[in-house]
Amino acid sequence: MRNALGLLLGGTLPGLLKPAPACAAPGRGDPWTTLIDVDACDGCGACVRACRARNLERVPLPARPLPRPFPSWVRNQDWSDRREVTDRLTPYNWLYIQSCTVRAASGTRRIFLPRRCMHCINPPCVNLCPTGAARQRRNGAVYIDQGVCLGDSQCDRACPWMIPRRQSGVGLYLNLAPRFVGNGQMFKCDYCQDLLDQGQQPACIAACPRQAQSIGPREEMVHRARALAAERGGDIFGLNENGGTNSLYVFSQPFRDVEAELLRQDEIGFGRPSLRPAGASMDKENRLLSTVLLAPLAGAALAGVRLWREKQKRRRS
Ligand code: SF4
Ligand code: SF4
Ligand code: SF4
Repeated sequence: MRNALGLLLGGTLPGLLKPAPACAAPGRGDPWTTLIDVDACDGCGACVRACRARNLERVPLPARPLPRPFPSWVRNQDWSDRREVTDRLTPYNWLYIQSCTVRAASGTRRIFLPRRCMHCINPPCVNLCPTGAARQRRNGAVYIDQGVCLGDSQCDRACPWMIPRRQSGVGLYLNLAPRFVGNGQMFKCDYCQDLLDQGQQPACIAACPRQAQSIGPREEMVHRARALAAERGGDIFGLNENGGTNSLYVFSQPFRDVEAELLRQDEIGFGRPSLRPAGASMDKENRLLSTVLLAPLAGAALAGVRLWREKQKRRRS
């Protein structure tokens, strides 16, 4: 069902309907899970620089002028002249440090949270992607296949934290029907899956000078997260959110208080994800699936109307 658009287009897009490549995580076959120790992070940004050094050049620059999107309410999103932005997630910046001040026993304290894709266990972005471009590997990595993505943003809408970001004017849709199909490509953290395959840590984790981030088999990381939280009388974010994720944040205070401070200090918004304790999105699967199925059909119908109108206009002139 998730390949509705692919079926609609006759399955002609390269890679459509292909299953995600299998890749067993080293060790016990558990997915890889990251533990992010918020108490240890000092916001130095080494992880962000490492991610950018690896990924910035992988995101293409758009064709100009940007094709006018259709339907007319769809807006082009262009970050290509703001590639230096690191204070939020953008198509060119897959990891950023979210920060706020919280109350602590000693007064107030500035805290830092490296934010990127959570690599959910049952990711709605994958399940609801109409072209099958969003995929999940057995090692837990959720990634977007740039050869197939049409930038329709279903993954962004399905994600409780709106992680994937769109760049217009790039990708496959330029070779199809740029005015009628898609609007660019979606980009987000891919868990450095090629490094994981080679038995190496993701670049952001390897770059951290304070070992605030670590990665290991899920079972082991859950055990460590629980032990740390218990030791500090603290909290874990990501264990049950969205049905469970492979990114666990641990902090010595409740995350609902952090979320409240982030909101109060205007640190949540476009490209700045919340810490919302999201329920399992896939529980609302039927509603979301109908959206996914209807969206391409509606788009195709509207495209037909528009073509017909243009034909009529040409005939009259
Ligand atoms: S955080 Fe969002 S983009 Fe990442 S796997 Fe989960 S649903 Fe998908
Ligand atoms: S895992 Fe890789 S792609 Fe994801 S934030 Fe870290 S460095 Fe960037
Ligand atoms: S490199 Fe480590 S300490 Fe520095 S911002 Fe990233 S997670 Fe925090």
